[in-house]
Amino acid sequence: MNKILQITLITTLTISVSTETLKEPTSYSGNLYKEIILDGNYDESISHPNEFLDFKYAERVASTDQIEKAINTYKNQSNKIIVKQYGKTHEGRPLHALFISSPENLSKLDKIKTAVTKLSDARYINDKEADKLIKSLPAIAWMAYSIHGNETSGADAALGLIYHLIASNDQDILSLLDNMIIIIDPIMNPDGRARFVKSLEQYRGTAPNYDDQSLLHTGDWPYGRTNHYYFDLNRDWLYLTQPETQGRVKLINEWRPQILVDAHEMGAQDTFMTGPAREPINKNMSTDIIKWGNVFAQDQGNEFDRRNWRFYTGEWHEDLYPGYSFYVNFRGTLGILYEQSRMAEDGVRRPEGTIQSYKESVHHQFVSSLINLKTLKNNSKAMYKDYWEGRKLNVSKDSKWADKTFVILPSKNNTRINTLAEKLTSQNIEIYTNTKAINTSNVLKQSGDTINDYMIPIGSMIIPNAQPEAPLISAILEFDAEIDVDVLTKERSATLRDGSSIMYDTTAFNFTMMYGLEAVTVPEHIKNNIKKWIPSSINTETNSNALMWAVDGMDDASVAFAARLMENDINVRIVDKDIYLSGNNLSRGSVVVIGMDNPNVDDISKHINTVANDLNISVVSLFTGFGPEELPDWGGRHFQLLNKPQIAILSHEGFSSYDVGVSWWSLDHHLGIRHSQLNTSMIGYADLRRYNTLIMPSGYRSLSNNEINTLKEWVKQGGTLIANNGSTKRIVSNKSFTSVKDISDSFDRSHDYNISLLREYLSENINLDINSTNTNRLDLNINYPWEQSDNKLNQNQLEKRDAWQSLFMPSGAFVSGRIDDMHWLTFGTIDTLPLLYSDLPVLMSDASSKAVIRIGELVDNPNNKSYKSINWSDIPPGKDLNVRMSGLVWPEASARIANSAYLTQESYGKGQIILFAGEPNFRGSALGTNRVWLNAVVYGSGLGTRSTINP
Ligand SMILES: [Zn+2]
Repeated sequence: MNKILQITLITTLTISVSTETLKEPTSYSGNLYKEIILDGNYDESISHPNEFLDFKYAERVASTDQIEKAINTYKNQSNKIIVKQYGKTHEGRPLHALFISSPENLSKLDKIKTAVTKLSDARYINDKEADKLIKSLPAIAWMAYSIHGNETSGADAALGLIYHLIASNDQDILSLLDNMIIIIDPIMNPDGRARFVKSLEQYRGTAPNYDDQSLLHTGDWPYGRTNHYYFDLNRDWLYLTQPETQGRVKLINEWRPQILVDAHEMGAQDTFMTGPAREPINKNMSTDIIKWGNVFAQDQGNEFDRRNWRFYTGEWHEDLYPGYSFYVNFRGTLGILYEQSRMAEDGVRRPEGTIQSYKESVHHQFVSSLINLKTLKNNSKAMYKDYWEGRKLNVSKDSKWADKTFVILPSKNNTRINTLAEKLTSQNIEIYTNTKAINTSNVLKQSGDTINDYMIPIGSMIIPNAQPEAPLISAILEFDAEIDVDVLTKERSATLRDGSSIMYDTTAFNFTMMYGLEAVTVPEHIKNNIKKWIPSSINTETNSNALMWAVDGMDDASVAFAARLMENDINVRIVDKDIYLSGNNLSRGSVVVIGMDNPNVDDISKHINTVANDLNISVVSLFTGFGPEELPDWGGRHFQLLNKPQIAILSHEGFSSYDVGVSWWSLDHHLGIRHSQLNTSMIGYADLRRYNTLIMPSGYRSLSNNEINTLKEWVKQGGTLIANNGSTKRIVSNKSFTSVKDISDSFDRSHDYNISLLREYLSENINLDINSTNTNRLDLNINYPWEQSDNKLNQNQLEKRDAWQSLFMPSGAFVSGRIDDMHWLTFGTIDTLPLLYSDLPVLMSDASSKAVIRIGELVDNPNNKSYKSINWSDIPPGKDLNVRMSGLVWPEASARIANSAYLTQESYGKGQIILFAGEPNFRGSALGTNRVWLNAVVYGSGLGTRSTINP
């Protein structure tokens, strides 16, 4: 309260001073739009929104604090509103859900919630009981606004709507409240809105500004769309990485609303868009949802027609990706999208010459909300009946989900498995584990291959699809989302005609590939030999008499374990091979702390115990450094000393705010160690010696020669430079910095790249004939692999092919990553790592750099008797190459990227350059590739550079 009071005082002061020194405005925007939004017979004891603002309602953007103040006032003024705080943002702002209804309904919220929960599970009640529940239940609506902070009109409409609903004495509103629980989520992204409102303050001058290109309208990098860590919260509804979404989804899933309105804004020169979506629509969505979507859109459209407001449905709005707010569609809630053209502040001049005012944009959102609520009131019972039928189908033996079980194979990566379990449980998905190995058949692997006889190993995570949330389970765990042939035909036609796409977001998103966990799909309903899944137990106890202590390298938390100990100046080693010590099997990449390495640290085992507890990772105490037979011993070269990472992230204009944000968040969330974000404009003169690890998130800014030289010099002196996607593209375009090339610059040396690739293959597949090896006679029949392939395309032909193939690059799909399982960057990853791939730089690596991850899984095919060529590369006899794993990847694109590198590592001077083709931390949810990136950040300085000894 104090804070708000203070802000008001300061604002008042500023205004009184500034009017003395600035010219009077030439005109006011207040007269642009004459319609009255808040038009009703209002209870005078409820404060009008104007009372919280220093302008008239809806004429400008209300700040987060102003709306917050209104909420806190209303909850004391009215008995038609209950405010629940469901979370807190990274910047400490509260997140609110406002329950608005008649006082009578509000007095029995718990009862209503219990009834809704009962209705959602058809395993425990019958039709008669369901009927009774439906008769008793009010309609339930979730109205959510401005998830993108710079799409402001939604939250302003919400402010008016709250007032209108609690203050109006008009019969239609009273009757709405008698029949409905309206849950208003007025500002879904308060941190982003606050950032945008600040830039509005910053760029406001004396005269109104209607130019949508001006800074007043656009704001500054990183803009207001995203939250504190620059996450797009409207892509986070499944992966639940941010506190806003975590709190919100929990409450939505408890309340199971009938509709969920998600009010956005779009381009300033657009009109208004609402549901329903066009194809591709995810096939797990019920046809009832689509049917009701049309009913709501029709009523809304009629009202817009009546008011002479332009709008449209469909067009760019598709519904394949289940990670928008429309994840609710798979749970039986109708998601309704609003997209209002963006009118930040005063208004926007349009091509017709008219000026559309901010107030009008708020009015559109306000009217849409009221109309949707009325449509819901009229159809609530019928919608509940459809809902009930859907819930019965989800658990019946007749549904398409009945004979299917998703199985996640056991892993020593407890942290990642537990994260998956937590996300699934948040969606009310029931998960089990098998107490015995289970025999099955016709099992589908992630590669797309089917295995006839398959044994599910004991301790797998078992998720039968036939559950109350069957459609959602299928949407997020099936390896491939089905796309109609019509849609694919249209997409290919658009691609060929003008290079456009009808896909709005990524076409692949299943959880197990995203998380880099091995999984299979079993075509039967598994119900025997399973029990409720519980996390495996963690033992963090440390024995102070041990020689050393270790955590297993398969667990993602092992990286944080190493990072946090080094942060406290404790020496840490990593073992680059599997080990067996003191009766413990530990994986390659295990982190070991040796007492002898830390003679000056008191009570080291206690430190280790504390860090392990914080990270929830098991520690083993080791009493001998002797590894039997060939296995590593503690004094040998496999126990490598790490170097404390000193990290900077390059940031600001020219970088993708998403990739900067998710890099920053990854360090804070996964590691929790110190680092700096640097404004890239400082590269030329900053003291880079303070850092040994520089992160270049994806960017589109070309570096100047001076900047390149500074970076080169820094790497030469021992730095580790890690770049993603766009920044990788900039770096490889500089011929003197790295030997890695973009494919389009490589065709004059295709043969060399093929030789490097063949060396990799052959080094892993040695078929030695001892007699011919040891013969003294010169062998006149030595096989040279490149001479056996039919790879005879010349440079010109390769260039033509590449130009054609590059038309077909994916818009977001999973491809197979083949890892170098001897390289330190791949600690903790599975052998075939799914890689999220789009129109990325296609990286070519020869013998001067390591291709740590290449595209394509080599699979056996005994019928392939000879070398086969794909563009520049060969695949050896007996093998085939699988590229696509999930989503739309045209065969031309698969051929183009086959055998290219996703990740390279090369020495440069005393330092190294690590290049990712993609964005390994995508949306904070690509945990498979995120692990590789964390390895680079934490281990890079120790393992890939030439170490120095401080005198
Ligand atoms: Zn939006």
